[in-house]
Amino acid sequence: MPASSLEDYRELQEKIGYHFKNIKYLETALTHRSYKNSGQNYELLEFLGDSIVNFLVVDFLVENFPNYKEGVLASAKAYLISEEFLSSISEELEMHKYVKISGKSKFVSSSVLADLFEALLGAIYIDSGRNMNELRRLFFSKYGDRMKEVIEKELYKKDYKTLLQELTQSRWKERPVYRVVNVSGKEHDRIFEVECSIREYRAIGSGRNKKEAQQEAAKKVYQMLQNA
Ligand code: MN
Repeated sequence: MPASSLEDYRELQEKIGYHFKNIKYLETALTHRSYKNSGQNYELLEFLGDSIVNFLVVDFLVENFPNYKEGVLASAKAYLISEEFLSSISEELEMHKYVKISGKSKFVSSSVLADLFEALLGAIYIDSGRNMNELRRLFFSKYGDRMKEVIEKELYKKDYKTLLQELTQSRWKERPVYRVVNVSGKEHDRIFEVECSIREYRAIGSGRNKKEAQQEAAKKVYQMLQNA
């Protein structure tokens, strides 16, 4: 391993507040599938880390906001596991400096940044001997204040058209397109159907006015992209 990457790994571990027993896990967590000659990439660790983030966020919400309605907690959760939130953590850790990816330094997308943070959690989980308590302590102490701020300032309450547009702008520098595909019902009892599409993703939402229908369509596409 070149000295420079050992130095990088040391710096990153300082920032995370965790020191790997087996540095291989950290290296894998930082390797994108596009990277040449990479034996292993981060995909499996990301798959694991995705579930870990879900769990830790819910655990945090239940512990700190036990009196909130479940619907509110669900919205807060959706935001706290979103690409926007997780990539902002990765940005703070300057993950673009450490990732091994082809065409690096030009642009690391927010989707990859979010994945990197998930992979990192997966790597720590495995490296610590699957010690969820340690990971939980680490995650809460590093990001607890920020998660509380999201809830207290209601930063998660963005509407879906805005959320979707921010996501597609950061991923592809493109905006979704909305189109009324059907109007039915009598004059004062109309049902609008609007299609929202971006690239190969599309969904139809319905509502009593265009705005409602657009929101529903945007929500569906947003959820598709979150799982894509
Ligand atoms: Mn992911």
